[in-house]
Amino acid sequence: MDRHAQTFAYEPLPARVLFGAGRRADVADEVARLGCARPLIVTSPEQHTRGDDIAAAFDPASASRFSDAAMHTPWHVTVRALDAVARGRTDCLIAIGGGSAIGLAKAIALQTDLPQIVLPTTYAGSEVTPIIGETRDGEKRTQRTRKVLPEVVIYDVELTSTLPPAMSAASGLNAIAHAVEALYAADGNPITSLMAEEGIASLAGALPEIMRAPSSIDARRIAQYGAWLCGTCLGAVSMGLHHKICHALGGSFDLPHAQTHAIMIAHVAAYNADAAPVAMMRIARALNAQDAWTGLHELARALNVPLSLEAIGMPEDGIDLAIERITQNAYSNPRTPDASTLRVMLTRAWNGEPPARVE
Ligand code: NAD
Repeated sequence: MDRHAQTFAYEPLPARVLFGAGRRADVADEVARLGCARPLIVTSPEQHTRGDDIAAAFDPASASRFSDAAMHTPWHVTVRALDAVARGRTDCLIAIGGGSAIGLAKAIALQTDLPQIVLPTTYAGSEVTPIIGETRDGEKRTQRTRKVLPEVVIYDVELTSTLPPAMSAASGLNAIAHAVEALYAADGNPITSLMAEEGIASLAGALPEIMRAPSSIDARRIAQYGAWLCGTCLGAVSMGLHHKICHALGGSFDLPHAQTHAIMIAHVAAYNADAAPVAMMRIARALNAQDAWTGLHELARALNVPLSLEAIGMPEDGIDLAIERITQNAYSNPRTPDASTLRVMLTRAWNGEPPARVE
């Protein structure tokens, strides 16, 4: 999106956002503020003890728990969570965790319209989007609906301080990917582009510092601020080819979400470079790099994330299936993807080769 564009639409999404160290202490007040009293506290199994901390703020007779959230929001887990909602006579949802826990809260909200309070512990950004991806029969389908947009987001930086450096790096690159695609979205606008550039710059500055000092609250705060901005970009404008690829790969081969983004974003930036020169200039500027895709690749290398799809478990003979799914219901993108150039890009990414413009 050209920052001097004269014609655009901008539709900010409503959310109440609390930001700052220790803000999780406000969760009971926020439930009351929504006029609710019977929360269901949603976590993944690994984050169960975080749920304990939140549960301690409520009368055990009124709060209930569901701790089986899983990546890519499998439908069979949602069905069990809906049972827990019915049994607990739940009137609101509290999700604490990464995109997996937040995704499950959204999936419940989609079916029930219950209000959500979410406390993110990664940089995935789902908390500020009206987007939900659900996996059924091995296929991940994504939709946008205001029904799943959380009403309240509590960014408590202390919750992110335990995120391991490797996951912090991958999750931060996942956030950056949201902003990269927002900068060349067909429905982009100058306000979202401002947030995108600031989000990329904040994360690119903070993530290397987090690698050096994982418990640095200052670096964590800047990363979380950047992740909020990048998530807001994802919520505001359309996703492009990069997100389509990650959804297809994640749903088809059960690949880890953040790592898939971390590997693919530099490749897709190179693939789209000639079709989106203004976006590439802004990404490069935010990264303080010569060009966007090299800057993204160098950042990924510096953060020591896996660089090949092979390393995260994608079978090489999966490339054909991936191309089939990427080209079905393609997302809007500055360059129209075709099977042969996609094959070149995915093969390079599978092998862990550096990104290249693919002719
Ligand atoms: P995740 O929620 O599965 O978390 C990844 C791992 O990190 C898990 O093992 C988790 O237990 C651990 N973890 C999380 N926070 C931690 C912390 N503070 N300390 C220690 N460990 C911690 O992964 P994710 O990458 O955050 O989210 C991925 C999911 O979110 C996918 O299903 C993806 O589709 C979805 N997502 C959706 C949107 C959207 O807008 N709808 C946006 C981004 C991601």
